[in-house]
Amino acid sequence: MKRVVVVGAGPAGTVVAARLAAGGIREVIVIDEKPPWEKPCGGGLTYKAYRSFPLLEHSAPHKAIRQALLSTDGGHVALLRLDRPIRIYSRAVLNRLLLEKAIESGAEFIQARVTAVEACPSGWRVRTAKLSLDADYCVIATGARNSLRDFGARFRPCDLMYALGYYLEREQQQIDIRFLAGVRGYIWVFPRVDHVAVGICGKGLAAPELRQILHGFLREKGWSWKEGRFYAHPIPALEVDGWRRNRYGGRLWVTVGDAAGLVDPITGEGIYYALRSGQLAAEALLDETVDRESKTTRYEQLLEQAFLPELEFASRIASRVFLGSLLGAPVPQRMIQLIRYSQRFRQIVRDLFAGMQPYSSLKARLLRSLSRTIQEALVSVLFHRVSLEEEQA
Ligand SMILES: Cc1cc2nc3c(=O)[nH]c(=O)nc-3n(C[C@H](O)[C@H](O)[C@H](O)COP(=O)(O)OP(=O)(O)OC[C@H]3O[C@@H](n4cnc5c(N)ncnc54)[C@H](O)[C@@H]3O)c2cc1C
Repeated sequence: MKRVVVVGAGPAGTVVAARLAAGGIREVIVIDEKPPWEKPCGGGLTYKAYRSFPLLEHSAPHKAIRQALLSTDGGHVALLRLDRPIRIYSRAVLNRLLLEKAIESGAEFIQARVTAVEACPSGWRVRTAKLSLDADYCVIATGARNSLRDFGARFRPCDLMYALGYYLEREQQQIDIRFLAGVRGYIWVFPRVDHVAVGICGKGLAAPELRQILHGFLREKGWSWKEGRFYAHPIPALEVDGWRRNRYGGRLWVTVGDAAGLVDPITGEGIYYALRSGQLAAEALLDETVDRESKTTRYEQLLEQAFLPELEFASRIASRVFLGSLLGAPVPQRMIQLIRYSQRFRQIVRDLFAGMQPYSSLKARLLRSLSRTIQEALVSVLFHRVSLEEEQA
């Protein structure tokens, strides 16, 4: 392959471009309608994400967060110390860092909106208002708002959730996560270097409703949103059957990141999956044992080995996590109570925050530690031995 065009220069597109260029593809062209920008996002990277991408280790400015305040709108609260911090980036900073890496590796960046990708004898003709570029292969990395209808995931409304929020000039040292009765989603406050990103996501709720709930939370915090910059964007959150009908590529094209629906349907974490799918797409395209026509199949195999079953499993349990009940109370409330009263359970939640506890083995781990967790909780409740975290909250 001589020329690969990557449409979209978010985390997914820039990683593919960097890897392909470094891997010897002669011409790698990455096209985005915007220069690195503040894409609506919390910007939070789990330990699993930054550990897997050494480029992110020390380079760009970010905030390392070591505490999370979890609460419900019913007044249950727990402060959790994180043993592996969450790193929070401005997306403009993160996107610039990744694009620079792609350019350094030999990729070319063109700022333009891709209006069409058409089949031609050599592969694809990629059109912008001013340019027409031929390519042997195309990578679609256009995010959740992909306008190239013939490529990428075919989201039904039930495969997306809406998210919105504000960037506020505030300072805070901990992450806030607020669970909301009857909502499959949550509110977050993510502190960044010089501001905070506050937002809400909720499956099945319309934007005005989400906005109203978020305003209630901000009022409770005593924060005004009037001067803040508003943002809104969809997040892929595939239903269980959405994974089976999903489209990761076709003849001479693959899709990566949000455009492929690769987001954790519980937490909305997508940056890791964007970076990782970018890596896997590049691996498939560079694999010399696989002919050009079979690259998509190879990419699908790699996705399957890496994380697709885990994301599908997350879709299976997402509703129960937010809307289920345990021992007569909502799951989020019970989770917060157990964080307060059981050291063992706290460690499980820490591992979830770090991205190091797969959902698929969560049940087995919970069952394994059940009797100790209950013992710890009972002793704490009966003898008022609450955790240090709780006292600070
Ligand atoms: C409100 C919100 C909060 C979130 N918080 C987090 C979080 O804290 N942590 C986390 O891990 N994930 C979070 N996510 C998810 C995360 O933002 C995405 O998963 C991630 O950005 C996906 O990366 P991507 O490269 O696939 O797509 P994107 O980052 O969306 O990049 C796509 C790029 O394609 C470009 N593009 C699109 N169409 C065209 C076109 N026709 N021509 C040229 N260019 C085009 C766009 O300009 C854009 O730059 C959040 C999402 C939302 C909406």
